[in-house]
Amino acid sequence: MKKLLNKSFTDHLSQSCSYKTYEPLLPLIEGINFINASLLHANGLATIDKIYIDIDKILRSYDERKLIHIILHELAHYYRIQRKGKEWYYNYVLHTDKNEYVEQTIFEENFADRWATLKYNELYNDNLSVEYRDFSDGMFLRTMIEGTYNHLRGNVENEIELEEATKRYILDVRQ
Ligand SMILES: [Zn+2]
Repeated sequence: MKKLLNKSFTDHLSQSCSYKTYEPLLPLIEGINFINASLLHANGLATIDKIYIDIDKILRSYDERKLIHIILHELAHYYRIQRKGKEWYYNYVLHTDKNEYVEQTIFEENFADRWATLKYNELYNDNLSVEYRDFSDGMFLRTMIEGTYNHLRGNVENEIELEEATKRYILDVRQ
């Protein structure tokens, strides 16, 4: 029987997409705790100290380019959290009112999209434009953010509960 070894995120990338696709990404992801995991309702998830990416799900629905873009998008969230600090993050997630939470989340999403697209173009010498996502009143994306807010305020009061709640979205860590 083959010995089971824990594979690194780069190992997973190398098995899922071509060298040409993931090679430019390597310097950026080095030293960051990336985890390939099957996720509930998400393709990627950035937390205070880790980034989860559902490589298989993304490649089933999209292509390698989208995979790279999602990795960069989550990396943008991660850098923001690192730069703004834990206190800022917990305050935003746990203590803002509904309106502040929704506006901040839309800002964070747009920021991550823009950063990911710029970085993608820089790394791959491409010319993609930032994908437009409609966050206006009544639209699906805004309703989703409002739903997350209601869920958080209904169930999560502190950092430990937030960690527990986050774990429910991580169905299976791929080794
Ligand atoms: Zn995002």
